[in-house]
Amino acid sequence: MKVPFLDLNRIHQPLHKEIMERLDEHVRKNDFILGNAVEEFEKEFANYCGTAYGISVANGLQALEIILRAMNIGKDKEVITVANTFNATVASIVSVGATPILVDTKEDFTIDPSLIEQKITSKTKAIMPVHLYGQICNMDEITTIAKKYNLYVIEDACQSHGAMYKNKRAGNLGHAAAFSFYPGKNLGAFGDGGFITTNDEELAKKIKMIRNYGQSKKYYHDIPGLNSRLDTMQASILRIKLKNLDKWNYERKKLAEKYISSLRDLVSVPENSLDRDHTYHLFVIRTNKRDALMNYLKERGVDSGLHYPVPIHLQKAFDYLGYKIGDFPKSESYANTILSLPIFPGMTEKEIDYVIDQIKNFFNDSLK
Ligand SMILES: *Cc1c(COP(=O)(O)O)cnc(C)c1O
Repeated sequence: MKVPFLDLNRIHQPLHKEIMERLDEHVRKNDFILGNAVEEFEKEFANYCGTAYGISVANGLQALEIILRAMNIGKDKEVITVANTFNATVASIVSVGATPILVDTKEDFTIDPSLIEQKITSKTKAIMPVHLYGQICNMDEITTIAKKYNLYVIEDACQSHGAMYKNKRAGNLGHAAAFSFYPGKNLGAFGDGGFITTNDEELAKKIKMIRNYGQSKKYYHDIPGLNSRLDTMQASILRIKLKNLDKWNYERKKLAEKYISSLRDLVSVPENSLDRDHTYHLFVIRTNKRDALMNYLKERGVDSGLHYPVPIHLQKAFDYLGYKIGDFPKSESYANTILSLPIFPGMTEKEIDYVIDQIKNFFNDSLK
């Protein structure tokens, strides 16, 4: 049997006709840039997250970058984030000229709030927590620190569409949040896309200008800006897909529950804490036999992944920050022991049972 890591066809097949009809309409009307569909989607996704404002942008990296620009965070400023994340989190800080200050992660793969305070200096402007794999960070602890030092909280919500913390959604837990609609995310476009949520009216206005050449109206440029618009066709696709997001997240959760109850005696599994609703963008286990298990699964037709094989502070691009091996022991040890198992809406009972059986076989075999 073959089990893919992710099969987007199963997500898109039932929506294919509706989407194609909508795209055809865009072509017939030449409706491509910042049309009605963009505005409608912005309202709908902001509403979904529970925020007053929503601005669509070109991708998740630029969502983070535009938030930082709108907050005037640049040269000689510092932003605190986690060593265990996807490159874009840190790349956004670098791209505005600020300095990323890293801290280690903890068992749930999110930033360890107990390590933040010691990294705060007079240059610190913001904390950028990452809701990695669809699991919300401990936002109460982070918010308390941010308030004490008057810092912005910028959520990297690029992996956590729909995830909840104490009945509030990702995107509504700080001053502003960034989402990505990269095709493989829980809510994905047919290409790149991104989004910013906030409850701050001034910030929202500025963000909206920055994403469209700094214009207050056409050809009147008030501030330096970017071209970072979401394509109108992508907005239409996302409007159709958004209606299914809760259903898809529920499917992921059911699959995760099955993995957890079947595997918890063999490997370390992600636990869903009571005050958080994990949406399992990725389902990540930990085991010391990671490489052998990954190969074993591959030989038996099961695709798995590594998110991420090298923590930020050991990436060549960030050599100049001056970190070294041993600086973030948890992030380093996780990079060597994590394994992401297949999880996606439409994954069948047979497939997940097969994956679980192969993992059980692996540990039985390795005991022999
Ligand atoms: C995907 C992702 C991003 C960036 O999104 P793009 O749309 O690919 O630019 C940022 N942060 C995290 C944690 C991500 O997973």
